[in-house]
Amino acid sequence: MVQVIEWVNPGEDEIIWRYPNEVIKWGAQLIVHEYEVAVFMRDGKIYDVLGPGRHTLTTQNLPLLYRLVGGSNSPFKATVIFVSMKQFQGRYGGETQTRELAPVKYYGVYWFKVADPVLFITEVVGGQSLYDTSDVTKFIRAYFNEGMMKHLSAYSIVDLFQNLDMVSTQVKVKLIEDFRRLGLELVDVKIEGVNTTDEWRQRLFWIMQTGNAQAVMQMDTAKQVAAELGKSEGAAMGTGMVIMPQLLQQPAQPAQPAQPYAGGGVPPAGYQQPAQPGAPAQPAGQEICPYCGKPIPPGARFCPYCGHEIKRCPNGHIVPEGAKFCPVCGAKIE
Ligand SMILES: [Zn+2]
Ligand SMILES: [Zn+2]
Repeated sequence: MVQVIEWVNPGEDEIIWRYPNEVIKWGAQLIVHEYEVAVFMRDGKIYDVLGPGRHTLTTQNLPLLYRLVGGSNSPFKATVIFVSMKQFQGRYGGETQTRELAPVKYYGVYWFKVADPVLFITEVVGGQSLYDTSDVTKFIRAYFNEGMMKHLSAYSIVDLFQNLDMVSTQVKVKLIEDFRRLGLELVDVKIEGVNTTDEWRQRLFWIMQTGNAQAVMQMDTAKQVAAELGKSEGAAMGTGMVIMPQLLQQPAQPAQPAQPYAGGGVPPAGYQQPAQPGAPAQPAGQEICPYCGKPIPPGARFCPYCGHEIKRCPNGHIVPEGAKFCPVCGAKIE
């Protein structure tokens, strides 16, 4: 009876399959389906690679193995590994820290396929001794996650929540490089969500409202400041965010020089302090959801992206959760 080597009915998510019999006879029928490659290995080394088609194994189509096993026609030992060249989808999720050490959780989807089966077998299957689809899939997910953690940690929390599209694009380019090293093509990556702790969401709120990331980062906790600002009617004094830097100064620090003001002297009431360099540019009139960082329609009561309720003062300013008075205009919040 002729030996038939075939990957019968591979499952949707199966990326590799090892032919269980390691004794191969010359003249065996090797059936390689579309989007598959058969790789012949021995002692962890790759010898011959055959693409789609029905092959009768001869000394012609396995020249490297033939050279190794010698001229005889007796059966020889080899491991046949089938690799699927189809596209796969994987889900990921993990935790990392931003540049300011803010804890961030993230999750999403990625799509990949084997681009270079020889490199893939060398680096992943043979290199890690993973001969089973679920082990390989686990390894790839962990590798992806590790890259995602590393690359995301180079960004600030404001970038992550306000410029997630830009961050995604840049991180994707780096991950594509990482994957190429494994013989894999990373087809696409989607970051479906990022999240942080309540405390950091409060900080984000202030960074986005004031455009002053540096000052906010100097605070002990953003919640304290939110409480300070919202506590008494006099807190805001109707001067907008000019109040922020004074409030944010640490007692131990020397007084900051007054902000440059074109008119000289004391800025008039209502003068809006220019954003610090490096602060996110916020187009005039554009409101940002303090919870997810996406632009929201003017006056929205709920964020269309994350669904969070947007609390507002009677004059329409966005206010932090728990504030009793609007930090912008001082209005009482019911
Ligand atoms: Zn939102
Ligand atoms: Zn207000």
